[in-house]
Amino acid sequence: MSDHIRTILIVGGGTAGWMAAAGLAKVLGRDCAIRLVESEEIGTIGVGEATVPHLSLFNRFLEIDEAEFVRQTQGTFKLGIQFNDWGRVGDSYIHGFGTLGHDVGMQPFHQYWLRARQLGLADELGLYSLNTFAAPRGRFMTSASDVPATSPLANIAYAYHFDAGRYARYLRGYAEKRGVRRTEGKIAQTLLRADDGFVEAVVLENGERIEADLFIDCSGFRGLLIEQALHSGYEEWTHWLPCNRALAVACEKVGPPTPYTRCTARASGWQWRIPLQHRTGNGMVYSSDHVSDDEAAAVLLSNLDGRPLGDPRPLRFVTGRRKQAWNRNVVALGLASGFMEPLESTSIFMIQSGVMRLLTLLPRRDCHPVLRERFNAQSAVEAERIRDFLILHYHATQRDEPFWKQCREMSIPTTLEDNIRLFRDTGSFFRDGNEMFGLVSWVQVMIGQGILPERYHALVDQMPEADLRQFMQGVRNVVSSCVDAMPPHEAFIARHCTAEAVAA
Ligand code: FAD
Repeated sequence: MSDHIRTILIVGGGTAGWMAAAGLAKVLGRDCAIRLVESEEIGTIGVGEATVPHLSLFNRFLEIDEAEFVRQTQGTFKLGIQFNDWGRVGDSYIHGFGTLGHDVGMQPFHQYWLRARQLGLADELGLYSLNTFAAPRGRFMTSASDVPATSPLANIAYAYHFDAGRYARYLRGYAEKRGVRRTEGKIAQTLLRADDGFVEAVVLENGERIEADLFIDCSGFRGLLIEQALHSGYEEWTHWLPCNRALAVACEKVGPPTPYTRCTARASGWQWRIPLQHRTGNGMVYSSDHVSDDEAAAVLLSNLDGRPLGDPRPLRFVTGRRKQAWNRNVVALGLASGFMEPLESTSIFMIQSGVMRLLTLLPRRDCHPVLRERFNAQSAVEAERIRDFLILHYHATQRDEPFWKQCREMSIPTTLEDNIRLFRDTGSFFRDGNEMFGLVSWVQVMIGQGILPERYHALVDQMPEADLRQFMQGVRNVVSSCVDAMPPHEAFIARHCTAEAVAA
């Protein structure tokens, strides 16, 4: 008898459950019976509306038509994240996706910028990148095919904002069309096999028993299988990422949607703003040790663009990661595998990379331990690198409220400490080839939060000063003329992917 995986049960129908269903159905739909159980009574978390550019790879993998996807999810486009008041109150910078300036030989652009800045030849960093220049000006387009390959317009990096509920529904349609069978019901019990502790079946409240070879736990924070049944353990990172609560509220859309997410630091946390076609998503992420729920709600509600469309919805979380995201025959994805921070919109990316990692390491029914270890080791490295990047935002601040003072003074992981020291001293930065955020991201956030290197790479001095002046001016001119050629974000949406008008 074949020992291939023949049956897969996905537990949970939030973003993670339906992304897993879509990805698995695309590859395994013909070979496997894939089922998904979700409970309408429990519902989904209903947030998670900003993404990173990697999602377009997932869409391409699923062969999803981009315009259709944006239309169906009331989506907008995102060139980066604007961070306001993080380093100091009044500061503002954009972490833009894509490239920064123009690299010369083996040296990245920011090394030249550092020297030019010392010589008084450079403007602020954000003026040298297409994304960071276009975003606050409200310009957006996807890559142009009728420009030279070297033009910044030939390769524009962007992500999406979308309505989380509509995204899950959209993927549900995709997955069901490819054979995924959905069951509405609440799981009451998880049954383990006596000999090896693998999950054998789940039992619904109505008594139905569902068996599978492989279980994907997408049950959200509760980790129904991975934690409640298998006790896989949780590594807490609350000492580094101290926010533990959030309030989410949508408000009426006022004006054209900005092609960026906005994250504004507040006295004891930060506030997000995510523009969609039909409404604007907002939320406050905060530390309950430093501010009460009522105070946080008052700050959130007094800083909305438009009329709130309901009361703020409270959410609680513990930052960290599941010690074993894959345990026995259960693979946890989404919030069941851990949660850090929505600050850099990384959670949906981690679902995507978990789905792809699982497909790459797809086991047979015995779930070979080496495959599990590899999956867990790769997931851990990915999470730790993202964790460090998030901690950087909290730690590199001069703000003086107790919350920020605590973040500035906390001890941080040595990996991050070494990189901050290296960057401050030399302008260089060390990163693993595989980590999610590239050098440009780290550089923009370091400099945006006030870590300005004292030196730059020695090779940069090989460029004569007059050439450096011309080079910097040239890059600025190219960026600004490209942005002039881009349409307003709203006009781009109107031309390509306007969603149906709906009540928000
Ligand atoms: P959920 O949405 O909670 O889904 C869990 C599913 O399991 C539900 O269908 C539920 O019914 C089902 N379930 C649970 N128990 C049972 C049971 N006993 N029987 C049957 N079914 C059950 N991510 C981003 O990438 N970008 C963002 O901007 C972003 N913002 C966020 C803001 C906040 C405040 C928070 C907390 C998270 C944010 N995230 C963001 C993370 C993102 O929301 C999640 O990664 C994503 O929604 C996936 O959630 P999920 O599917 O794992 O869990």
